[in-house]
Amino acid sequence: MIQPYTRITRKTALSIKLIMTDVDGTLNNGGDELSPAVANAMQNLKEHGITVGLVSGRTDPMLVAMARSLDIGGPLIAENGAVARITYKSGLVDLGYSRQPAVEALARLKAKYAGRITEREDNTERLIDIVCRADGVDMKDLRKCVGDVQLLDSTYILHLMQKGIEKGTTLKRLLELMDGPKIRPDEVLVVGDSMTDLSLFKLFTQSVLIPNPDLPEIDKKTLRKSARYISEHGAGEGFAEVVLRIINARI
Ligand SMILES: [Mg+2]
Repeated sequence: MIQPYTRITRKTALSIKLIMTDVDGTLNNGGDELSPAVANAMQNLKEHGITVGLVSGRTDPMLVAMARSLDIGGPLIAENGAVARITYKSGLVDLGYSRQPAVEALARLKAKYAGRITEREDNTERLIDIVCRADGVDMKDLRKCVGDVQLLDSTYILHLMQKGIEKGTTLKRLLELMDGPKIRPDEVLVVGDSMTDLSLFKLFTQSVLIPNPDLPEIDKKTLRKSARYISEHGAGEGFAEVVLRIINARI
């Protein structure tokens, strides 16, 4: 049963070494701007020795730019788990994923739903994932058409990707590859708002759901079943209030 974030105990707060947070719907409502409250929260975490990383459907260059401007030192996971680096200063990790299944799925969609599938321009910067919009096509029909390829709806855009790639498994792999004393999965707090974050909620015991009013009721229900805590406010403000709770609980 999901609990309000105010139930995060001192023991839990003290156990957290790394916070991995989603971006859209979690830190902000799209775009590049982050509120002063979020920037302060990041600074606060650094002062308390808690590392922060980003885990998002965005491209790697976008996450590198955001991590550099916030000066956060944790891992970056882009394209919903398909592309990753240990910090914004290090190189890409070879995760062994392929774009070919998504390329083929997109071709099938375009053939079947001519004129209704629009690719987004940042596909040229994506290495594995393909993003598109589908006008007036039911998700069920889209799923049937893409077959064995993942189709994720982040509420901002649809993602097509090789099966088996997800944020949660990539984060587990990165924890093994990180230098220095090992961080255990139960020392990581994951934060997210949508179905693209479900694998994080399932694989990591410490998790916070940031409520997203734009989600279908069925997704809200699924996410609430998997996450441990929920913030009161939505994107940005919700993240900041959870960070404040963690820092105050540690004192
Ligand atoms: Mg999100």
